[in-house]
Amino acid sequence: MNRLRRVEQAQSGRVPTNTFVAWFGQRYTIGVLAGATLAVVIPPTLMQIDWSSSFYRSLTLLVVASPCALIISTPAAVLSALGRAARRGVLFKGGSHLITLGKIRAIAFDKTGTLTEGKATVTDIDPIDGANVSEILSLAAAVEAGSTHPLAQAVVDAAHRRNLSLPAVKDSTTHAGLGVSGVAQDGSSGPSRRILVGSRRLFAERQIDVPNRADEILKGFEEQGKTAVLVGTDRVLGVIAIADPPRRTAKAALRDLRQIGARSIGILTGDNQRVAQAMARQLGIDDVQAGLLPEEKADAVAALRRAHGTVAVVGDGINDAPALATASVGIAMGGAKNDVVLETADVVLMSDDLSCLPYAVRLAKRTNRTIVENLTFALVVIALLLVGTFLGRIPLPVGVIGHEGSTLLVVLNSLRLLWYK
Ligand code: ADP
Ligand code: MG
Repeated sequence: MNRLRRVEQAQSGRVPTNTFVAWFGQRYTIGVLAGATLAVVIPPTLMQIDWSSSFYRSLTLLVVASPCALIISTPAAVLSALGRAARRGVLFKGGSHLITLGKIRAIAFDKTGTLTEGKATVTDIDPIDGANVSEILSLAAAVEAGSTHPLAQAVVDAAHRRNLSLPAVKDSTTHAGLGVSGVAQDGSSGPSRRILVGSRRLFAERQIDVPNRADEILKGFEEQGKTAVLVGTDRVLGVIAIADPPRRTAKAALRDLRQIGARSIGILTGDNQRVAQAMARQLGIDDVQAGLLPEEKADAVAALRRAHGTVAVVGDGINDAPALATASVGIAMGGAKNDVVLETADVVLMSDDLSCLPYAVRLAKRTNRTIVENLTFALVVIALLLVGTFLGRIPLPVGVIGHEGSTLLVVLNSLRLLWYK
């Protein structure tokens, strides 16, 4: 509930981008109507020009000053680009997100499921104090079965591969950014135990002591860049290590993003600092913020926005929703299994392919340039036609051709985005 509220709060804080256009459009329209009226009245009364020719000139003025090309400049470019992006599997939920994406200075990635495949596999299971490996895995898998987290999938798969039978679990709960818990029943009449699977922080919050031995095992795995989770009841039973390699396209995508002007590229993760550092080293990322809860991710994004202005965040999980909502542009991986994430995001990468990301940013920049070209061209044509009309050099048909022609050229210029490589 609290998390949804954070999402709503962040979304309502967004500044509408079209206020300037509305402000300008209103004044321009009034200005043109007033100008046309004056153009009918003033020449005959003050300059001895006959009414019919001043009426004709005023009509020409109305035609050449009507801002069709100006008005269509932005939507024509944006719609073409949205269509192009969709064919590459990048879905924008609105044109304004495309425009914002073209201006980003910083970009922050979630780790698990975003920079990594999310196709994690269990590599090690280390028992603590003589606990049983199969028991640890079957308890963990039983609780994880209710979670859509990539780590949960890995644990469940490992149990299936070993043909373990899983105990029944009630009340399974997801603690976003921390882990999962549930009550497992041993046999039909056996005792029931609350099982926890997750990070040190989850165990600390439940005041369950993590023995030094377990902590050392965790550190060992983390130094290898593996995500390690604790499994326990009222005491720690063991550690499960999960390897989750980065996506094949991640490194190249990050390099391309840097090349096209992202000044800061960072990781925001709920996972441990050591694991995050190992991944950052592999991918050439400099800024790592680890051990973050969902709300802390959102705070980190707010800080990035204060430092850099326009910030994109890419994520896949429920734990990323507040951060996506706080970002200038929130981008979700299409494989995200959580509706709140897909709902909160402004952009969805349908194919889960990170190389679409630099493409989308380049397309967005190109779109912004096209809009500037269109607006400049439209304004110059209007200005020239207006001056010509005042000097009496533009007959009405020429005014119509100039006006329609410039609108057509603006549209054609925008359509080029449909074929953007
Ligand atoms: P990220 O921000 O990298 O996507 P999360 O915030 O989803 O990572 O998770 C942070 C940490 O919380 C994980 O590294 C893990 O220790 C723990 N965790 C989260 N969900 C689960 C789960 N379903 N099972 C076990 N541990 C979990
Ligand atoms: Mg994630």
